[in-house]
Amino acid sequence: MSDFSVEFRMPKGCPNCGNHMMKVSQAKQSDDGVFCTSCNTEVCAWDQAERILDETPRSESEQLIEDVINNKKPDSDDE
Ligand SMILES: [Zn+2]
Repeated sequence: MSDFSVEFRMPKGCPNCGNHMMKVSQAKQSDDGVFCTSCNTEVCAWDQAERILDETPRSESEQLIEDVINNKKPDSDDE
């Protein structure tokens, strides 16, 4: 059922934990749920995610990829 899912980066972070990595079923049906890979919260449906991805300029997507990478580092104030 949900064993076959693909991960992707969402411009809009998870409302629960702020994570940008999402997963959706490989079938990508428009009403399939998009889930946070970190806390498994259902963020939105795939058709909505697709629209958000569509509207996001490429440069912004690249910026978000950097954010995702940065978020994986331990967050300390004395960097
Ligand atoms: Zn989350």
